[in-house]
Amino acid sequence: MPEYRAPVDDIRFVLNELAGLPQLAAAVPQYSATTPDVVDSILGEAARLANEVISPLNRRGDVTGVELRDGKVRVPDGFADAYRAVAEGGWVGLRGEPEFGGQGLPHAVSAPTSEMWAAANVAFATCPELSSGAIEALEAYATPELRAQYLPHVLSGEWAVTMCLTEPQAGSDLALIQTRAEPRGDRFRLFGRKIFITWGDHELTPNIVHLVLAKAPNAPPGVRGISLFLVPKYLVGADGKLGARNDIHPVSLEHKLGLHAAPTCVLALGDHGGAEGFLVGKLHEGLACMFTMMNCMRLGVGLQGIGIADRAYQHAVAYARERVQGRSADGKERVAIIRHPDVRRMLLTMRALTEACRAVAYAAAVNLDFARHAEDPEERRRQLARAELLTPVVKGWGSELAQEVTALCVQTHGGSGYIEETGVAQYLRDARITTIYEGTNGIQALDLVGRKILRDGGGALEDLLSEMRTDEKALETDATLEPMGRALGAAIRVTGECGRLLLHNAAKDQNFAGAVAFNFLMLIGIVTGGWQMARAALVATRKLKAKQGDAPFLRAKLATARFYSDHILPRAQTYASAVQAGSGSIMELEEDQF
Ligand SMILES: Cc1cc2nc3c(=O)[nH]c(=O)nc-3n(C[C@H](O)[C@H](O)[C@H](O)COP(=O)(O)OP(=O)(O)OC[C@H]3O[C@@H](n4cnc5c(N)ncnc54)[C@H](O)[C@@H]3O)c2cc1C
Repeated sequence: MPEYRAPVDDIRFVLNELAGLPQLAAAVPQYSATTPDVVDSILGEAARLANEVISPLNRRGDVTGVELRDGKVRVPDGFADAYRAVAEGGWVGLRGEPEFGGQGLPHAVSAPTSEMWAAANVAFATCPELSSGAIEALEAYATPELRAQYLPHVLSGEWAVTMCLTEPQAGSDLALIQTRAEPRGDRFRLFGRKIFITWGDHELTPNIVHLVLAKAPNAPPGVRGISLFLVPKYLVGADGKLGARNDIHPVSLEHKLGLHAAPTCVLALGDHGGAEGFLVGKLHEGLACMFTMMNCMRLGVGLQGIGIADRAYQHAVAYARERVQGRSADGKERVAIIRHPDVRRMLLTMRALTEACRAVAYAAAVNLDFARHAEDPEERRRQLARAELLTPVVKGWGSELAQEVTALCVQTHGGSGYIEETGVAQYLRDARITTIYEGTNGIQALDLVGRKILRDGGGALEDLLSEMRTDEKALETDATLEPMGRALGAAIRVTGECGRLLLHNAAKDQNFAGAVAFNFLMLIGIVTGGWQMARAALVATRKLKAKQGDAPFLRAKLATARFYSDHILPRAQTYASAVQAGSGSIMELEEDQF
């Protein structure tokens, strides 16, 4: 089986030439140390960990799985050492505040590490990823005492984190949460059941910090009544030492399609008198705090999709080079399947989708960094609006393309792809969860059209489209890139039309936004990806003309961008047609006709 090789060249190109990391480092004093040399050495070390430490455990973890025995969760051999390597390398606290032991680096630098580790072993990677998301929520909302007591241990990776939202009756609809939190002095006692909790229990770390959504007495109905609590697995004494076992226990593990090496737990809280919990943020306003974590995690899930897709692409290329079937177009010789146009179509689809979404995701990461630290408040507002617009797109489109790319990987392998020993079926199984957790893609799409487009009257979308139009004009001035400019222009126009249609129809037809939301999300994904690939083509053309940079890499980038423009960007018209069709045929059948 071919080893995973982190795509450091493409990551570097995207960060420096497309996402604007050098501009971020120049404009924001907090990130001034993020020079190309520093970033290069971080990427190099992250790639080494991914390639040499995390990736070799991927297949073993899938086969061995996890087990709950005598109340303890056991994970595959090697995972504890790999986790230690990640923690000791300071990777968990990459973005954390230096005040608590974090490295204060931007999202733009942590995003590639998330991608690489998910590619290397997504079941493993979900564990440190949860901590990165939690750090921001704790920094923003926990009391100074809780921050001082917990954050240094979380940032150092010494203690792991979970995110406990889901209950049997409360999935997408968190208003239905029933876990109770009863006040006892300066803390609460929690009672309830949480299901599907990723890395809900394990022995990788001596303590686990559970972030739990629950309802306190007299909570207003709906999501406004939810509060957030920090519930440690082991209580922490005033001296910082670990004390008694808290009343939160794993009662079973889920048997899943994929992510076999990540324990997905049912957790019981309060079966023995109540789990001690500490309020994070204000009472009844816990969902807002949890959203800080969820937004980081949503970007993280998009990056998981991109990572798994990249690994699947690499595996498919290696197989296509080796597998000899059929003859060359002139019939003269037997050839490896990589020579067949249809196999090249599959490989290029995999490659182009992955590279395009990587560029969109890293751009969103830089938007988040500017939104946090830019000096000008108007600039912060604009960057935040862009990051918020792109977050559901990166999560939704990134995870959807992972389905397509991993399926194409199986297809490239023919029958061998369907056989577990080949190893590629695992990518398909592992990727399948990415469209579901952290809010299903249906929910991402509603977030996009509702909160991110309708609520601001389409302002953030128009801002994005107008930036795209500037690059469309630049493409049209270069004879070799002019067809790409025309294709991008058509896609921008139809997206603008769909945005106006949405704004016009949403108030008149209460089913319109829900009916078109998913296709709208895919439309924005395809167009934004096309824009980023077109920008990559502009950079590659300029550098090739000036004889700068790595010519084979730049020529390949240009060819991949052309493929995207010719074969993937036209999908924008299909998604747009579905948006324009509205809710009519979707709502036509009576319920009993299904
Ligand atoms: C492997 C795994 C790991 C997980 N890890 C965690 C974790 O660590 N912590 C945690 O809290 N949860 C976790 N989850 C739970 C996950 O986040 C939920 O499964 C997910 O949010 C969907 O909730 P649900 O399963 O109840 O589906 P439902 O909410 O019942 O949804 C079913 C279908 O209906 C659609 N739907 C629901 N409501 C609407 C609506 N209003 N409009 C349109 N469509 C709608 C959905 O899109 C979906 O297609 C995990 C789940 C799995 C399988």
